[in-house]
Amino acid sequence: MIKKDQVAIVTGSSRGIGRAIALQLAREGYRVAVNYYSNKSAPEEAVEENRRQAEEVLREIENTGSIGIMIGADVSNSQSAAELVEKTVEEFGRVDVLVNNAGINKDQLMLRINDDDWDELINTNLSSAFYCSRAALRYMVRKRYGRIINISSVVGINGNVGQAHYAASKSGLLGLTFSIAREYGPRGITANVIAPGYIQSDMTKDFTPEQREKLLSAIALGRIGTPEDIAGAVAFLASPQASYITAQIIRVDGGLSSL
Ligand code: NAP
Repeated sequence: MIKKDQVAIVTGSSRGIGRAIALQLAREGYRVAVNYYSNKSAPEEAVEENRRQAEEVLREIENTGSIGIMIGADVSNSQSAAELVEKTVEEFGRVDVLVNNAGINKDQLMLRINDDDWDELINTNLSSAFYCSRAALRYMVRKRYGRIINISSVVGINGNVGQAHYAASKSGLLGLTFSIAREYGPRGITANVIAPGYIQSDMTKDFTPEQREKLLSAIALGRIGTPEDIAGAVAFLASPQASYITAQIIRVDGGLSSL
């Protein structure tokens, strides 16, 4: 049953953390735009697989009693990101919550990071949030309501060996978020950051048992997080209970100390 008529867009939500966020928001009654990665220059089979995964998410959203749409877009591209927002508004008439979740990592020591990798990480993890937020804010400002939630990382706060480009992109999200919060707070819009620690997903599946052991010993709660742990924090920030919270970083990391 639809509890709210509010609409949420979750970038990169065909799998992983984005998928869990889309499902949690649907359970909370939001209508959800599920974005899967699609780009004309990407291999057709890969885009087809993303589309298939997004279709599954859509089915699960419908099982919650809510409604979703799926929209293929490459949010690292300004025009494609703007179209994601436009198509959502065409379908649902509004956008209330934007979760900038899409992201990639390409771990490499600083001296081996080439210019193309740098650009790709910054465009995918940081510029995407700027493009989508700019497009969504046009509608949010008119309604004098909006929630922007950016998925950064604890690495964006502390830095990390082998992740200079990833960390820089995730730190950039902090400045972007705080600026949106200050510029659009007077229009009823909040902007916050969630900084996940180590979360079970495709992004972290290739850790060696040694890496996993070392990590676990640094996590107070003694376990790796789940995508649902992040989704719960997003749902809170989107909810009326969080209406006086803006320009904040919420670490969802099980009490991870620096490694
Ligand atoms: P994931 O399983 O690799 O999923 C990332 C999602 O983003 C995928 O659906 C991917 O699409 C999509 N994506 C990538 N580039 C895109 C683009 N240009 N346009 C649209 N979608 C795009 O990763 P995850 O672990 O769920 O991570 C989600 C977010 O949490 C990321 O921003 C990540 O940096 C952040 N985070 C994760 C962890 C962790 O431990 N897992 C920790 C801290 C922060 P494809 O299916 O086509 O690849």
